[in-house]
Amino acid sequence: MKLKSILVFCGSSKGNHPIYEATARQVGQTLAKHNIHLIYGGGNVGLMGILADEVLGNGGTVTGIIPTFLNDREGERHDLTELILVKGMGERKKIMAKRSDAVLTLPGGYGTLDELFEMLTLVQLSKATHPIGILNVNGFYDPLIAQLDLMEREGLLRSAHRDLLLVADDIEDLLLKMEERLIKKMKE
Ligand code: AMP
Repeated sequence: MKLKSILVFCGSSKGNHPIYEATARQVGQTLAKHNIHLIYGGGNVGLMGILADEVLGNGGTVTGIIPTFLNDREGERHDLTELILVKGMGERKKIMAKRSDAVLTLPGGYGTLDELFEMLTLVQLSKATHPIGILNVNGFYDPLIAQLDLMEREGLLRSAHRDLLLVADDIEDLLLKMEERLIKKMKE
């Protein structure tokens, strides 16, 4: 794999359906298998915590980047390969982007979408070059994809920018798509 480190955004909750937890586990196992370093929000809650545990449990490596106010609330994780404490959410996002080759989004809530759309906006403005993908398990992101298609049809989102977002329902397929895009960008 050309992908060396991946930034994963996902829920600080687990969701109501066991498929979300199972997906976070499967993604963690897959990243460890391919030796892809995980960069994530550093917490021990929800899908984020499950994902980090699974990467570490399968011999992978993890960097957590967490603002001190969240770290104080949740209690510091001492088991991560590396923990970076930052002052706030803005600084956290900057370091996350700097440290990663690509962005993967799993099911989540406001925080997840905020982080996904900030990265898409940065790539749209040529301020970042990360391949960006969403793992659409259980049709979770179908309504979001329909909204993006509507935005494109209505002339509010350019086709080239709509195409920045890669989608798959299988993690191996999505990693391959992201890798293809990374290789293409490296050749440009
Ligand atoms: P959400 O999708 O609203 O559950 O938020 C998940 C995202 O927001 C994560 O990717 C984190 O970056 C951030 N976040 C929200 N809550 C927490 C938390 N309790 N601990 C660490 N990060 C969090």
